[in-house]
Amino acid sequence: MNRLVIAPTQIKNGQISLNFEQQHYLTRVLRLTQGNTFVAMDGQGNSWLAALSSEEQASILEAVVGATELPVKVTLMVALPKGNGFDDLVRYCTELGVNRFMPVISDRTLLKPSPQKVQRWSKIAQEAAQQSERQIVPNILSPLPYHMALTQVEKEAACYICVARRDSEHLLHYLEKKENEIIIATGPEGGWTEKEVEAAIAAGFQPVSLGRRILRAVTAPIVASSLVAATWDKARDNFFTL
Ligand code: SAM
Repeated sequence: MNRLVIAPTQIKNGQISLNFEQQHYLTRVLRLTQGNTFVAMDGQGNSWLAALSSEEQASILEAVVGATELPVKVTLMVALPKGNGFDDLVRYCTELGVNRFMPVISDRTLLKPSPQKVQRWSKIAQEAAQQSERQIVPNILSPLPYHMALTQVEKEAACYICVARRDSEHLLHYLEKKENEIIIATGPEGGWTEKEVEAAIAAGFQPVSLGRRILRAVTAPIVASSLVAATWDKARDNFFTL
């Protein structure tokens, strides 16, 4: 079933008013005609089966209960990698179930992101959420200096900082605790400075390993997200086969 992200404000009295871009996507790209159905999602956890009633409008038929979201809220705090690395990472980590991205500028971050970048990353997250049949579109925060970001993490979240070449316990070990909310920080190409690691520990972050190999700055958050998704999906599959 084709999926389309809409804003909650587009719904009134069971009708969805489609904007120009959405009309184009449904009628020209997907070639849907009157009466054809698709899944409309507000990106905040709600989805509906809808039928195209005209070029500009669709009618909501029923709510759709989705089961693709992880039961844990995952935030990636990522020191921006070089080039378009963050584009790839947003795409893949959205597919893996991440809820929020906190791009940060650390001491060794080389990229100076333009203000339009957040809009571009949000669009990538929206497309990836649609394609992987998620109900939630991840929130992408504006890039912040690393030390400021450390002060903005939720007190109730379990926080981990991925550090290479340090004798830390593997992230998998901590994921066994099945926390409700997790924040995972990964560094840039040159890694975190020792001061940055110490600042994170002082802010309540636990240093963790992602294994014995040194992963690229783009690969590390994808690996961390895969470990979280696998841990929770496996726990849920075990529950349903009991
Ligand atoms: N230049 C750094 C060094 O030699 O130690 C490596 C930096 S690595 C390319 C970029 C980031 O990925 C690191 O700051 C860390 O957050 C994460 N990372 C890569 N491999 C890791 C591993 N095996 N364990 C934990 N974190 C890792």
